[in-house]
Amino acid sequence: MTTLTNRAKPVDRKPMTFLESIYLWNIFKGMMITLKHFFKKKATIQYPEQTRPFSPVFRGVQILNRDEDGRERCTACGLCALACPAEAITMEAAERLSGEENLYREEKYAAKYEINMLRCIFCGFCEEACPKDAIYLSETFAPSAYNRKNFIYNKQDLLIPDPKTQPEEFAQAKGLREINKKNK
Ligand code: SF4
Ligand code: SF4
Repeated sequence: MTTLTNRAKPVDRKPMTFLESIYLWNIFKGMMITLKHFFKKKATIQYPEQTRPFSPVFRGVQILNRDEDGRERCTACGLCALACPAEAITMEAAERLSGEENLYREEKYAAKYEINMLRCIFCGFCEEACPKDAIYLSETFAPSAYNRKNFIYNKQDLLIPDPKTQPEEFAQAKGLREINKKNK
């Protein structure tokens, strides 16, 4: 028989011996492999009770930032959506009304802001494109979910806690990035 690669192996069809037919030797070999791995250092950990430290350069789920007075920084300019190669970001802009200066930093703000985490490739282009320091990738990841809809993160999911009312949560969400910035 001629073949293209000459790598085809003929199947050995000779009848099994009695020892082969009871598979004892093969079972024993399998058990030895199991036993060998039993005493080796485990490659897995007991997640979520145990967690591994992330790399310092790890970047995960996005955060919509606030300024030091707790006002939303995003001005709904759309540059992040334009820069996104995965077309994961959608938003709707709204005009800031008089009396809302304590809520929104700019005259225009994002009334609706969504990121589809199933599309996002965590490239960081949205963060690069933002002129208002309003979006950045945090040091945490999007938790697993059973439903695709749960991966559409809306503004409330993305917005960082208010530094005035929840300073600890705000600092935690900012993460190591801010600490490293201060130490520079
Ligand atoms: S990290 Fe990249 S893919 Fe994800 S939303 Fe930002 S620009 Fe789009
Ligand atoms: S997050 Fe930044 S780039 Fe995106 S719409 Fe808001 S201000 Fe513009």
